[in-house]
Amino acid sequence: MKIFKFGGASVKDSKSVKNVGEILKGFPKENIIVVVSAMGKITNALERLTDAVFFKKENAVVVLNEIKKYHFDIIGELFPNKEHAVYNEINNTFVELDWAIDDEPTENYNYEYDKIVSLGEIISTKIVNAYLNEAGIKSKWVDVRDLIQTDNTYREGKVDWDLTQSLVNERLIPVFNSPLEEPVLSLPKEGKGDDSKIIVTQGFIGGTSENFTTTLGREGSDYTAAILGFTTNAESVTIWKDVPGVLNADPKWFDETKKLEQISYQDAIELAYYGATVIHPKTIKPLQNKKIPLFVRSFLKPSEKGTVINDVQSPLPIPCFIFKINQVLLSISPKDFSFIMEENLSEMFNLFAEKQVKVNVMQNSAISFSISVDNDERKLPDLIKTLQKQYRVLYNENLELITIRYYDQATIDRVTIDKKVLLEVKSRYTVQLVVKPMI
Ligand code: ASP
Ligand code: MG
Repeated sequence: MKIFKFGGASVKDSKSVKNVGEILKGFPKENIIVVVSAMGKITNALERLTDAVFFKKENAVVVLNEIKKYHFDIIGELFPNKEHAVYNEINNTFVELDWAIDDEPTENYNYEYDKIVSLGEIISTKIVNAYLNEAGIKSKWVDVRDLIQTDNTYREGKVDWDLTQSLVNERLIPVFNSPLEEPVLSLPKEGKGDDSKIIVTQGFIGGTSENFTTTLGREGSDYTAAILGFTTNAESVTIWKDVPGVLNADPKWFDETKKLEQISYQDAIELAYYGATVIHPKTIKPLQNKKIPLFVRSFLKPSEKGTVINDVQSPLPIPCFIFKINQVLLSISPKDFSFIMEENLSEMFNLFAEKQVKVNVMQNSAISFSISVDNDERKLPDLIKTLQKQYRVLYNENLELITIRYYDQATIDRVTIDKKVLLEVKSRYTVQLVVKPMI
């Protein structure tokens, strides 16, 4: 069995939903779990809706109507027959959002967020599933909240792996393994091929023991694909994206990029850790544990191979770049010019954790400790103020952080032309440079 993940750009309009069907037809004999996240940029719109409901920032009804229109335009193009059951089904789902607007929100923002934002995935999967069946690809819609269980850390649900595994064993595996028994989630008799089966389910969301909805963190649907891959022992996981595969740099920042054919799990984890956005950081670990290959492929060119992340040992053949803008370099030193000691460091790290500030790179000297962090106006001023009670804090804004994995001096020289290097941290395979653009 394989796991396919579609979302965002690959389900952003009726044409792309049809394309999902075309891609699935290319695998007529496979059992596939199709993980789908919200359509286009709907998660952002639902975040706006949450803020409209919670903080009354803007008119919630207006935002909700935009969201409805977006989906009903797509449905209108996919299902010309206005009697189709999908119209009713989506209307019923939207009723939950109508309620969310009418009711007074609870005190808990994160809880309300998950209740509202998760519906993007419920709606997208209902549309995709209905379309596939319409197109003759028999599939079954499954509510992933009955499978993936989390604690109630809303917006960042922590997966209960044991419980999730037992629910997958009990409810999901039988569907694929023993067609003669009556599985809990019974599938339509006719598969798309001979006896192959397709399940459509949601990325990004989970359920709690009290049947509340959680989300797994933004961009979390790749992680869902990995969780389902791990718990079903899938033969592979494929993420269908609008890029040809994993590139050695983000084309947004670099003119010349090259596609990587194959990446080791280790390198993929490192790249995600340093901020390569193509892979969600949590996705790799479960797959690495079971040596399940992860393919990143283009839904625009499904015949092309893409990139495979698997159990190879070889290093990458070319340098990889990760670029972050809007960095602030903080230099923190004790007010009395004493040394930076273990006690200061542990105090500072507790503070970073408490204020949820992620340290992108750090360097220590005798009397000062430097870190580069994202310039997040909701977090940083508060952190600086607290640090200033005990330390002298210098900061330098509008910087860039360039991370190069498999660097050499020539590459460093090339990317630092016209830039002043303020901090450089080198390890065997990775260099991180905090730089100030000179022009
Ligand atoms: N829809 C969610 C988001 O935009 C999850 C995902 O796309 O991976 O963050
Ligand atoms: Mg996404």
